[in-house]
Amino acid sequence: MTDLKSIDKTYIANTYARFPLELISGKGSIVKDETGKEYIDMGSGIGVTAFGIADDVWKAAVSEQLGKLQHMSNLYYTEPCALLAQMICEKTGMKKVFFCNSGAEANEGMIKAARKYAAEKKGADYYTIVTLENSFHGRTLTTLAATGQDHYHELFQPLTPGFVHAPANDLEAVKKAALSNKTAGIMIECIQGEGGVIPLEEDFVKGLALFCKEQDILLMVDEVQTGNGRTGKLYAYMNYGIEPDIISTAKGLGGGLPLGAVIFGEKTEYTLGAGEHGSTFGGNPVCCAGALSILSRIDDSLLAEVKQKSKLVFDALQGAKGVEAVSGMGLMIGVKTVKPAAEVVKECMEKGVLCLTAKDKVRLLPALNIPEDVLMKAVETIKAVCAEDEA
Ligand SMILES: *Cc1c(COP(=O)(O)O)cnc(C)c1O
Repeated sequence: MTDLKSIDKTYIANTYARFPLELISGKGSIVKDETGKEYIDMGSGIGVTAFGIADDVWKAAVSEQLGKLQHMSNLYYTEPCALLAQMICEKTGMKKVFFCNSGAEANEGMIKAARKYAAEKKGADYYTIVTLENSFHGRTLTTLAATGQDHYHELFQPLTPGFVHAPANDLEAVKKAALSNKTAGIMIECIQGEGGVIPLEEDFVKGLALFCKEQDILLMVDEVQTGNGRTGKLYAYMNYGIEPDIISTAKGLGGGLPLGAVIFGEKTEYTLGAGEHGSTFGGNPVCCAGALSILSRIDDSLLAEVKQKSKLVFDALQGAKGVEAVSGMGLMIGVKTVKPAAEVVKECMEKGVLCLTAKDKVRLLPALNIPEDVLMKAVETIKAVCAEDEA
């Protein structure tokens, strides 16, 4: 074990089961370890480095802002966060943005807004948020409560009250859960990410949107993982032809710097007032300058490329030896393998390809601009590993 690995094991809290790999540097979709060995990065963090590692355009935007003003409190106006909010609203038709630093924090803001909206509209007892079984919404006590997977809850009781879980793709069950509680909002991931890269069914999502509208229950979409071009649309809800009342996003938005956002539609744009929510670091000018460079490049042609590359991956892996199923959308792809996913990931790493897992799937979240030849080289490695007999 190198010094660094033992220092890390001694001093870093035990919350992460790290791979035995120290990463030093990279460029685009290639990353190098401490021995100089190169890997194709099929995870981009966990869907974070949207345009790869040390992307030149992003780096220039970030560096320029870093030399001007790295932080000011939210007591003052700064240009990058205002322009980024404008860009997000113009590209989505939503009305206002609140910036924070992570996905869980974005979901917390979204939940606060939903509770206040419902309290004002219907009464303070309308605080329940219905979420889906097998969902993932973060690791704070409130977003854990929102997460519809019991094993995350067990050790951390009591969680924030007011969350009810209902089965995904069962519209009647979700309606029943919402109507038998005094419900403020229904919160979904259009594609369950940590849950195994499982897209929700279109009829279910459309039915849910209609129900929410009829009942004046807020439709809350967690786009932390699916957002910012990942699924071949700017936001995953756009694949379903629905209009959320409120959206949370993070991961890919900052291109590798911490940035989250709550995006408010018409119903909630004025819900949170001065002093009712805030974040010291939220809307950081360096993070926002980088995000502006990212979001301005997620245009129709980039999104068309994401879809086209997605099709190449699906075509190569569907029906391949050792592959049971391929799920997902765009460059958010889950591969159900015959071998345990963790073993596939380990063998791919040895062969120079870094993949992720999600439950029992191998999860692929490469950079949106990964070159086609690099992508297909990684896919060939994954295919070969899946086809080999178990070690
Ligand atoms: C990753 C993730 C979160 C949590 O984001 P953090 O930045 O880790 O707090 C929330 N929701 C979804 C759907 C995610 O994928």
